[in-house]
Amino acid sequence: MASPSTPSPTSQRPSTPPKKPRRVNVRTPEVMERVQAEVETHYRSSIVEKIRARNGVLTIGNTTIRLAKQFGFCYGVERAIDLAYAARKVFEDKNIYLIGEIIHNPEVNRQLHEMGIMNVTGPNPDAEIADLGENDVLIVPAFGAETSIMDQLKAQDCIVIDTTCGDVMSVWKRVRAYAKDGMTSIIHGKAVHEETRATASRALGPDGSGHYLVILTLEDCDYVCDYIRQGGNREEFLERFRGAYSEGFDPDVHLQRVGVANQTTMLKSETEELQRRLAAAVKDRDGEEGAVASFQFFDTICGATQERQDALFEMLDHHLDVLLVVGGYNSSNTSHLVEIGEKTVPTFFIRGARCLKELEEIAHFDLHQKSEVTTYADYLLGDRPAVIGVTAGASCPNNLIENTIVRVFELRGVPREQVEAA
Ligand code: SF4
Repeated sequence: MASPSTPSPTSQRPSTPPKKPRRVNVRTPEVMERVQAEVETHYRSSIVEKIRARNGVLTIGNTTIRLAKQFGFCYGVERAIDLAYAARKVFEDKNIYLIGEIIHNPEVNRQLHEMGIMNVTGPNPDAEIADLGENDVLIVPAFGAETSIMDQLKAQDCIVIDTTCGDVMSVWKRVRAYAKDGMTSIIHGKAVHEETRATASRALGPDGSGHYLVILTLEDCDYVCDYIRQGGNREEFLERFRGAYSEGFDPDVHLQRVGVANQTTMLKSETEELQRRLAAAVKDRDGEEGAVASFQFFDTICGATQERQDALFEMLDHHLDVLLVVGGYNSSNTSHLVEIGEKTVPTFFIRGARCLKELEEIAHFDLHQKSEVTTYADYLLGDRPAVIGVTAGASCPNNLIENTIVRVFELRGVPREQVEAA
């Protein structure tokens, strides 16, 4: 099954032309100087910087930490955090709200909450978007937001601090172009992920006449490919992908001309395979020449995701006894690092140092069970040499990576002071 039964973002097609958004430049040099100092205090790590400067390796006694060459905060996340902090400084006396999470990391979201930045979504929102007005500031997260939400913010004249990453906007440009050409966007991603919901809403095009289908797995892809080649049971198709297609989507009509895009944080090898399979299916149906007009694809995985995946592959060429992947459990790019790691080496997806409870007890997120579980094993036992690989998703701050590294050393009998002095 591709898609959870979340309401389709696209059921709200654009109706009235949007007003101009009220945007304020919060990143003035004076504000940014103060922001940088605060961000550094919250998220910087001297230990991580030291290991990075040593080519990613730190050995103390019989314990070696090996850090991936690329890990942690990406440029899009850094910018989003900077903007949120800057908004707090510029609008000291105003209520500031965030749509969902700024990025998928609980520590960063907790910090923003402590700074008085409230939320307008989730189980216990501090306010409803409908209640906000011209004195309220709304922060749009790095994933972006659906067009219906953006139009609502503009209509209510809210002050918008838009932290949407430029790489996400590149995907929007692509799916808008598909819509303009009358092509259905097939989006490789999670139908419920904020970024994919935002992208899907752009796939409708400016007049709302476009269509999209979100697919997540290669099994979904094969099902769609079969339908492209020889048709199938329309009702079964619509049931299988419920919640993952645009209003009025008809597989008999809207798979005739398709363009492929992807959530920026997917696993590159899987996205490429998915593109290959869809291209082959369209060519089987329309022939080489026909497919030129009925199929397009565009790799929209962002550079930061790519670099982190490549760096992990490179690290896995070295011997590791165990791999720790640090990040928020709902982080897409982090979960793909875990998928890469677990094919080669015992891999644990942890939120931070607190997950390393004892030498033989690790709490971690199981991607297959989709829940946190506890594994009892002796990967971290201190009485024999061990090489522990560490990497982190694009939304993980360095201070959490530092705490993890320090915890590993502590469990193996090396106190923090010794790690700092090494
Ligand atoms: S992971 Fe990629 S798309 Fe997401 S914020 Fe970072 S650079 Fe942007």
